[in-house]
Amino acid sequence: MDRVIGVDFDNTLVSYDEVMRRAALEKGLIPAGGGAGKREIRDRVRRLADGEQAWQQLQSLVYGLRMEEARLIDGVPEFFARCRQARIPVYIISHKTELAAWNATGVNLRHAALEWMERRRFFEPAGLGLAREHVCFESTRGEKIARIRALRCTHFIDDLEETFLEPSFPRDVAKILYAPSGHGTAIPGVTCVRSWQELDGHFFDDAP
Ligand SMILES: [Mg+2]
Repeated sequence: MDRVIGVDFDNTLVSYDEVMRRAALEKGLIPAGGGAGKREIRDRVRRLADGEQAWQQLQSLVYGLRMEEARLIDGVPEFFARCRQARIPVYIISHKTELAAWNATGVNLRHAALEWMERRRFFEPAGLGLAREHVCFESTRGEKIARIRALRCTHFIDDLEETFLEPSFPRDVAKILYAPSGHGTAIPGVTCVRSWQELDGHFFDDAP
């Protein structure tokens, strides 16, 4: 069967770990030398007084105004190149609202993400070579899943187990959890990978 690969965007293609940590430190939300991962930062910030609001503000900042500081995850360009060689269509399908829930800056999060991709040559033939129409931003998780179905993805790669747990997630789409921290999953039928290099092996090493 011809493969069509769908890929999530936030924390799957792009890492906010460093910018999130820097911004949280600058705002005095976490102590220096504290936990480095996004999860740890989230848990620490949420435990503060008005923590939920502080966490939303922090997210709005790193997904918007400070998006440029976010990092393209290692191995992504090589994976896209392999797919292009193999003529496997790739779509980025992301649940991303236009504006953050707590929005002080007015930055359009979808524009910020597209600009970030442009700067990293996502849409250049000599870069990642992705067609711009292959980037889909959806306003809800339900719409994201509807898009995965409409584009007839055979595989979907996401860092959030919640995506795969949605009852509407199509049963015949292979579920691949991108879990760089190595936390596994208890969801049946989900394949876990820790890196894009591992994903590359998963797709191409045993290919006929
Ligand atoms: Mg994500």
